[in-house]
Amino acid sequence: MLRIALPNKGRLSQEARELFTDAGLEIRAAGPRALTASLGGEFQALFVRAQDIPEFVADGAADAGVTGFDLIQESGRELDELADLEFGRCRLAVAAKEDSGVTTLDDITAGMRVATVFPRITKAFFHERQVAVEVVPVSGAAEIAPHIGIADVIVDLVSTGSTLRVNGLHEVATVLESTSRLISTPAVRADIARSRALDELVGALSSVLAARGKRYVMANVPRERLDDVKRVVPGLNGPTVIDIMNGGAFVAVHSVVAAATIYRTIADLKALGAEGILVTRIERLMP
Ligand code: AMP
Repeated sequence: MLRIALPNKGRLSQEARELFTDAGLEIRAAGPRALTASLGGEFQALFVRAQDIPEFVADGAADAGVTGFDLIQESGRELDELADLEFGRCRLAVAAKEDSGVTTLDDITAGMRVATVFPRITKAFFHERQVAVEVVPVSGAAEIAPHIGIADVIVDLVSTGSTLRVNGLHEVATVLESTSRLISTPAVRADIARSRALDELVGALSSVLAARGKRYVMANVPRERLDDVKRVVPGLNGPTVIDIMNGGAFVAVHSVVAAATIYRTIADLKALGAEGILVTRIERLMP
């Protein structure tokens, strides 16, 4: 059995559930408050707070876990990062009051107080810059700290930036960029059965992530334009070209293309005389 610690609530929880479900590891919990759930086969989920997951995995209470890179760094624990799961993208940033006069890191000087939920990362950041700030650990809502006089600046997570804006703060510098990661330990790797299960898990999750950025395009194109079509839809190893029983003027072309530029691909295919263009999502992609 491979025990995987997943965030029980908050921003990472929903997206982790969706990714596991898309990868065929559907969460079968006894109820919405269940602390564990079967994921099918040899996988079991343990639902815990995202900030506790690095400790759980490092201590062996779970074999693997999904949590933010920010929380992994803050834990200071030695962990293996097996995959970047791409969701929960945010940055840990230094921010100051609009009217504070602090606009760059150079404006932050020795003795200034920095409120944060991330004291370890914050201390390391300013230590490296050789600025002896006073770190004020808080357990949440750091953005209020400069307004109530307990800190001069803050180090907090920023996604869209709207929380900083509504609290009259502006971003001064980025401390680190974060996304969610799949983590484990060398001890789990040393166990053949669990290591194999871990490889299966990484393969399943990675194939879903690879597929999310791609689309499958099918089109009937004039045979005489095939060289130009190959340039528009190069595919993984070149497009698949299939004869159509219509006398030979057209052939069917199938290819995997980037989702982000699908509109341009369709326009380019149309310009080459393509007909019957179909675009579908891909469930999994193992290049
Ligand atoms: P935003 O207003 O979109 O910049 O979001 C900032 C607020 O959401 C802050 O209170 C952050 O602590 C929190 N936040 C943003 N992104 C994340 C994330 N990926 N994980 C956890 N908290 C986040």
